[in-house]
Amino acid sequence: MTQDCIFCKIVSGEVPSDKVHEDDEILVFKDIHPQTPVHLLVIPKKHISSLADITEEDYGLLGRMMGRAHLFATKAGSINGFRTIVNTGKVGRQDVYHLHIHVLGGDAPLPPMVYRNS
Ligand code: AMP
Ligand code: ZN
Repeated sequence: MTQDCIFCKIVSGEVPSDKVHEDDEILVFKDIHPQTPVHLLVIPKKHISSLADITEEDYGLLGRMMGRAHLFATKAGSINGFRTIVNTGKVGRQDVYHLHIHVLGGDAPLPPMVYRNS
């Protein structure tokens, strides 16, 4: 648990969340501001700040998180595919510095992968 980390507080139960899966190392819950009809966040229970902060010992954990994404998406109702996004650091526009995989989906195809602002 890292003090003042909102996702660590969700793991500990201090902050409520709409959980869809939990095991000894992974928590999956609904994003509070969904961008798509299905919008889940897959997080490790242990605090890892970002994808830029993982170590080799985390590779298995990351594999289990990513490897189960299709199960979480399907269970949440995104049956014809989904998109995974891991925003990382300043360039990736990461807001919450506790590693998370966005799982985005629903019935209809999503917009293009990256918007061009200018
Ligand atoms: P990112 O910009 O990749 O760091 O995304 C952080 C995501 O966390 C955003 O989509 C937020 O809507 C989501 N979020 C922040 N606080 C909460 C919360 N308390 N419960 C669920 N999702 C949250
Ligand atoms: Zn944390």
